[in-house]
Amino acid sequence: MTAVQSSAEDRGGDLTQKPSWRGLSGRPSVTAVYVSVVIAVHVFLTVGALLEAPLRLNDLGTFGAILACGVVCIEASRRLGMPAGVARDLLSAWWLPAALLLPPAYALVVPIPLQLLLQFRVRRTLLYRRLLLMAAHGIAAAVASVLFHLVVPDPLAGTGWVVDVTPGIPVAVGCAVLFTVISTFIVAIAAHAANPESGWKDVLWTRESLLLDLVELCVGVTVSICATISLGLLLLALPPAVLLQRSLMHQQLQAAARTDAKTGLLNAVAWQREADTELSRAQRGHDSLALLLIDIDYFKRVNDTHGHLIGDQVLIGVASTLCHQLRDYDIVGRFGGEEFVVLLPGADTVEACRVAERLRGRVRRLAVPAEEGTVSVTISIGVALFRMHGADMIEMLAAADLALYRAKQSGRDRVCLPALDGPRTL
Ligand code: GH3
Ligand code: MG
Ligand code: MG
Repeated sequence: MTAVQSSAEDRGGDLTQKPSWRGLSGRPSVTAVYVSVVIAVHVFLTVGALLEAPLRLNDLGTFGAILACGVVCIEASRRLGMPAGVARDLLSAWWLPAALLLPPAYALVVPIPLQLLLQFRVRRTLLYRRLLLMAAHGIAAAVASVLFHLVVPDPLAGTGWVVDVTPGIPVAVGCAVLFTVISTFIVAIAAHAANPESGWKDVLWTRESLLLDLVELCVGVTVSICATISLGLLLLALPPAVLLQRSLMHQQLQAAARTDAKTGLLNAVAWQREADTELSRAQRGHDSLALLLIDIDYFKRVNDTHGHLIGDQVLIGVASTLCHQLRDYDIVGRFGGEEFVVLLPGADTVEACRVAERLRGRVRRLAVPAEEGTVSVTISIGVALFRMHGADMIEMLAAADLALYRAKQSGRDRVCLPALDGPRTL
């Protein structure tokens, strides 16, 4: 489906929204408890490690240099801005060297100033999410640090582990992988708890996030090797790292411009562009194509009864349900308000109606937690087929709109075709 995918570091689209801190019956939600525990563990470990850590000038100098590089990276990409929600960055490339080269206390500390800088200089995001990321990276880096120091007890004492290569560098790579796996899991569990509809695969890794993890790992290990040889070499590693960070931000901002911020689906303009491309393909290949126009029934009542915030949660829930029920190549967007639109490449009338019925059934089962109990909604769906109901996108949208009108008129919570080929209400 073409929607903003919740990759592991996107890591759970619904983490971009406020978590439901209160579950049913006024108890804190699972997400809130989990996030609080992770943050508390990070604070506890950091305080404990700082009290124990020996203060060495060499360590402090390396820590300062790594931190300065992280700050330069953030400041150099600050003007580009940062997309709303969960943005992916390459800052782990800096806390990885802190983990490998310095005692675990530094690994726990280094994400704190950098995440605070991001929060206050680049983009304010929900504080709990910033703290969760901080804690996830801190804890993961500390585990990697402890393991690496078991094999190379004092990495800054000499370049032995770099020159002899084995076991130093393979162990450094192994610890970097472990760091990525642990931090990904910590965030993914929160993302999954916030949105149980999301599949584990989506909140853990996508192909794109795996590639970024690999880049981060390579930069992190390379920077660690440079810093061991000489802190001055960090000046050589900094420009490519800054360039990578900037291009990543640019790419994410472009994606954000195509996205509806509330639901993570394509916005109307981006949907139209993608749908037009798909329509041209269907025209050339004489393929079938179906359009679904979906509108939530009596949505105004949800807002009036439970407030706009719960209304927004319902919108997010419906969007997420649609995404999870569709194929990767279906194109789903938010058309505005409580209206969604789906293009189903290759679908004929039977297939389109089958999919529409499945979506209707799934949305019916959705239960969004509210102050008093849960909120459920139904949807009405208008279906239009390429060639049968329209020769271009404008005609198909008009036909689907007519079908949706029929669905509303005949009682809502149903799937309808336009009456052009004879009446057909499912
Ligand atoms: P129908 O079954 O005929 O579609 O009735 P309805 O109440 O769903 O339709 P109506 O067009 O009367 O109301 C749509 C409501 O959707 C009104 C508007 O306040 C609300 N709405 C639009 N966008 C948003 C949004 O982003 N968040 C929230 N919470 N509400 C929204
Ligand atoms: Mg409506
Ligand atoms: Mg409407």
